[in-house]
Amino acid sequence: MKLAKFPRIRITHGPTPLEPMHRLSAALGGPQLWIKRDDCTGLATGGNKTRKLEYLVADAVQHGADTLITQGATQSNHARQTAAIAAKMGMECHIILEDRTGYRFADYQHSGNVFLDHLYGAHVSEVPGNTAMDKAMEDLAAQLRAKGRKTYIIPGGGSNALGALGYVTCALELADQAMNMGLHIDELVHATGSAGTQAGLVVGMEGARTQIPVLGIGVRAPRQPQEDKVFMLAQQTEELLGVPGSVARDKVVANCDYIGEGYGIPTPGMMEAVTMLARLEGILLDPVYSGKGMAGLIDLIRTGHYRKGQNIVFLHTGGAVGLYGYMHAFEGHMAP
Ligand SMILES: *Cc1c(COP(=O)(O)O)cnc(C)c1O
Repeated sequence: MKLAKFPRIRITHGPTPLEPMHRLSAALGGPQLWIKRDDCTGLATGGNKTRKLEYLVADAVQHGADTLITQGATQSNHARQTAAIAAKMGMECHIILEDRTGYRFADYQHSGNVFLDHLYGAHVSEVPGNTAMDKAMEDLAAQLRAKGRKTYIIPGGGSNALGALGYVTCALELADQAMNMGLHIDELVHATGSAGTQAGLVVGMEGARTQIPVLGIGVRAPRQPQEDKVFMLAQQTEELLGVPGSVARDKVVANCDYIGEGYGIPTPGMMEAVTMLARLEGILLDPVYSGKGMAGLIDLIRTGHYRKGQNIVFLHTGGAVGLYGYMHAFEGHMAP
């Protein structure tokens, strides 16, 4: 793998910690649970987009860009991290937010990630759900170019092959940590959405020559399209790295049984997972991704999917800032 040849802006506080979750493991009575703290990547309260942006923004700089354009849902963590890195790089940032939930709650529309987008000085515009977002970004780029800006479009979630390199890097980092700790990891579990995280991880695991299986818990699409999306991006990532064909199709596994009514819509399992992690481990999950990912892991443990004695690592992809956009959902639903 020719990972080192890609320009990278080193901004992640890493290696991010790999920690045991003793109280959660005891409460569930199943395998030993660990957490890889990519909520502690450093930039803008952390999260998984930071590792992708290291490669994407380095590419933007190489292309002479002075303006970043990206898109996401209203409470997009990716948009927030992009806004922050743009500020740090002295670039202009334009964010198009898609109203995927139709929520009119004031916290959802203005607090959490949206508040930080504005605080970081991004130009934020809002569009209805089901807008053709790639075209919206192209149109905006054309307008800005006409005004003399040098634009660089970052796809939603930072998920193209270049962005996925951030999670190739993470897989190598995790394999190294596990080896140094003498830890045998039976599975790595995380929330999967725009697919860059999982695609990078499966490619990286092959590169690290480890057999750590990766399980993505879906937050938006059904299983088949989600796995197809991850596999396609994994193939593009391998090609970029000059190691085509290294990931077998059956290494890409997504479980999309924990989405509930749809993207960004709370589920009882998510509410329980967020509350349990807060009260047992002092860890903040998020309502859209890591909360549903952890809800999936908790359910798989309860239904006997794992054995006692196994070591399962949950990749915490960040997003806790989104909790402030969902206070309405938790009000009246928190146990005393
Ligand atoms: C974007 C995001 C994910 C999903 O990662 P993808 O690479 O888009 O699949 C998971 N968790 C959080 C908190 C995110 O913001």
